[in-house]
Amino acid sequence: MATTGLKILVADKLASEGLDFLKSSGFAYDVKTGLKVEELAAAVADYDALIVRSIAKVPAKVLENPGKLRIIARAGVGTDTIDLEAATSKGILVVNTAAASTLSTAEHALALMMSLARKVPQAHAALRSGQLEWKQRGIYQGTQLAGKTLGIVGVGRIGQTVASRALAMEMNVVGYDPYFTAPSALEGRVKLVRDFDEFLGQIDVVSFHVPGGADTKHLLNRERLFSKCRPNLLVVNDSRGEVVDEFALADALKEKKIAGAALDVYATEPPAKDHPLFGLENVVLTPHLGASTDEAQTAVSVDACKAIVAYLENGEIRGAVNAGKLKLDLPADEAPLADLARRIGILLTGMSENGYKTITLRASGSRAPKLMETLLKLATVELLKPHLTPPVNVINVEHLARSRGIELVQVHEPSPPSGMVGDIVGVRADGPNGESHRILGTVYADGLPRILRVDNYNMDMVPEGNMVLIINQDQPGVIGVVGTSFGDSQVNIADMVISRAFGKDGAATALMVIKTDTAPPEALLNRLGARPNILRVKSLVLPNRGG
Ligand code: NAD
Repeated sequence: MATTGLKILVADKLASEGLDFLKSSGFAYDVKTGLKVEELAAAVADYDALIVRSIAKVPAKVLENPGKLRIIARAGVGTDTIDLEAATSKGILVVNTAAASTLSTAEHALALMMSLARKVPQAHAALRSGQLEWKQRGIYQGTQLAGKTLGIVGVGRIGQTVASRALAMEMNVVGYDPYFTAPSALEGRVKLVRDFDEFLGQIDVVSFHVPGGADTKHLLNRERLFSKCRPNLLVVNDSRGEVVDEFALADALKEKKIAGAALDVYATEPPAKDHPLFGLENVVLTPHLGASTDEAQTAVSVDACKAIVAYLENGEIRGAVNAGKLKLDLPADEAPLADLARRIGILLTGMSENGYKTITLRASGSRAPKLMETLLKLATVELLKPHLTPPVNVINVEHLARSRGIELVQVHEPSPPSGMVGDIVGVRADGPNGESHRILGTVYADGLPRILRVDNYNMDMVPEGNMVLIINQDQPGVIGVVGTSFGDSQVNIADMVISRAFGKDGAATALMVIKTDTAPPEALLNRLGARPNILRVKSLVLPNRGG
């Protein structure tokens, strides 16, 4: 095989299958593990690509003189060991291999489901202990899965892989995923249910495959466990621990509100020795082993090497982590519009609750309409990022949105909306349930982004830092309560905008946009949200000014 003349530095131990792929593709490589930062910095310039796992560190210093280095591949998921800003500023692509553990994790979820349904660990332990009364073995009688309905929460890579295998086992499969807007997945074989409580009420097994974070925290909470689930429900969680309220789960099992639970992940890992589920009979627990297979370890190596070969040979980008910032190389008068679109996207996540069907960008003025595609992608990246496992970036966002049935629309407005001037950028998110929110903004001569309208609330505000959006009934006293509550929690309000709008019924509501010096504690937000005249409270973190 002819060699390409391209050279790769492998800076961490890597499964040999990936290296064999490099060799068979005509790429030369050197394995140099255990290099210090200075040594790695001196070495990289001779190479076209660098592969790391989690031990070799790539801070900005390593990339000061990157020579011909064009791509860094992380064999694995986390990229906190790589300075992404530095890589981006040098035009170096960073990729990871998030999909490599999909099959292994899906199989683990199925293993949990089957062990739980057939009480395999309990029967195994009883038999091996020598204490099993043979005639009593019927206490380990289980549940057949064929013919039962499996509910997949999070119809992404792992969720779909579990679903296809469960279909082969003759289970009925339904999905719940607000960010998968098409009516069904897997060629119509998995129908999506839009209402989570309705979804819970029709399934025999639920399997979670969503990212962690505020949006999915306690999706399965006490109220749902006690009043929305069927008593024969088996709960499987192979995603992130916080998605299920473990204490409520233990109580629901004790009170027979559900039939069993199998977990691989915990809110705190390792879980406490007195974890509420440890003493219970109808549970199966494993210590975060979802991706723990020889094949997954091989797959991260092979995927990383394949990503490098695809990029260096054809410019094809797979699993990009930092491409989301490539568009920052816009000219100085256009870059602030890109920054505005990104900030509008983040703010809009604070308004939209139930997923997206259509995301529309409207632009008017002399510069914004030229950038519509970039602006729409940048805003959509921010809208989807909290809900998908990274990477979501301008390179893959269009494909990700389309494959989930989310439509991206650009509209060039001949003139700005009434009362506004200059370049106006508006983003509207329409949800599958008819929910619709829009935010309009502009950039003034000072180069700073401004938000001019959120739904029907008018304002003029720089979106930045810690922000809290509060929608309340327009009644006396609410502002005072909000101010006092922040004060009581020692959170300093740095800036505040209040805007009032009238609904079709003539009733007035107000939107308060509050900027704080520090992040507001969850307890404060919950307290405010529980007040009868406060309709919505959402806290967001935006980049600081110029960030
Ligand atoms: P993915 O991004 O392909 O899929 C996640 C899906 O969740 C998306 O379809 C998204 O739209 C959906 N989603 C987001 N918010 C939701 C909500 N509120 N309700 C319902 N659906 C929602 O990710 P993936 O690769 O399939 O990974 C899924 C999870 O599995 C991640 O949390 C990942 O960290 C975890 N994981 C665990 C292990 C393990 O060892 N147990 C291994 C690998 C991955």
